[in-house]
Amino acid sequence: MRENDLLAWIAANAGRHPSVPLGIGDDMAVVNLHAAPGNDGVPALLKIDQALDQVHFDLRTHSPAAAGRKAVNRCLSDCAAMACSPAAILVSVALPRNADLKLAQELFIGCRDAAAVFDCPLVGGDTAVWDQRLVITVAAIGVASGRPILRNAAQPGDSVCVSGKLGGSIIGRHMNFIPRINMARQLASMVDLHAMMDLSDGLAMDLPRLLKASGCGAAINSETIPIHDDAETLSSRDGKPALWHALCDGEDYELLFTLSGPDAAQLGSLSLEAPISVIGTITKEPQLILQDAARAKNSWPKGGWEHGSMEVQGHE
Ligand SMILES: [Mg+2]
Repeated sequence: MRENDLLAWIAANAGRHPSVPLGIGDDMAVVNLHAAPGNDGVPALLKIDQALDQVHFDLRTHSPAAAGRKAVNRCLSDCAAMACSPAAILVSVALPRNADLKLAQELFIGCRDAAAVFDCPLVGGDTAVWDQRLVITVAAIGVASGRPILRNAAQPGDSVCVSGKLGGSIIGRHMNFIPRINMARQLASMVDLHAMMDLSDGLAMDLPRLLKASGCGAAINSETIPIHDDAETLSSRDGKPALWHALCDGEDYELLFTLSGPDAAQLGSLSLEAPISVIGTITKEPQLILQDAARAKNSWPKGGWEHGSMEVQGHE
């Protein structure tokens, strides 16, 4: 089973409701509360995400607090993707039968403190015990001070940008990242963001999702993709190019967004918590081109981290 195939099937079978202006498929769901004829209501943004022991974290090496923190931050990264603020989270845990009270308490504290960084309360949840490994499920409700930034509004001619540096997060960053909530809100208030998402599965897999939602393509300059030192470290270990790691590793939890060329030119003057790289241009033709400075074209890698896929390569 491939996750993208399942998501496409669910999207086609989810049905529509007048208070839900978008179909499913963005980083968060948008639900218009109190919508009525002639009144769009108040948009609430909703997200639920699960983190599994020995998939997203590993209790053999990570503390319960670190596992809880990551589970919450994964969910909050989707709030960043929509440029919204998390108003509250709920946490549901399926605890292994041999877990003690201390583990559960540390887990709770990790969750609570991760949300508190963004002044977001943990307001409820559920606990159960079973014979399998720990499962942490986090739901968030967010509110946007302006309009939420969606994936579907990239326009031909837009600059394609990413925050931070990509690749190699498995070395440690995947447990310790800070969701780009503050930066996303700052960007949304200072420039006209067209489309945005967070990079959870790797640029190689996530950029095509943004392009598909927007009905356009992109020409990406491989030499402008910001490569993290961790990607270089992995490259020296496994011989794969550092660029491959930057494109395909996943769990970067950085922002991918598009905006007009004039707005992109302003980014350098903003004081942001991480650097922004302009990596290419949105094109009308729905194809994705990776080229270097010599304009030699390369095929877009098929890698990237697709949960549930049997064809994933490279995610360690
Ligand atoms: Mg996301």
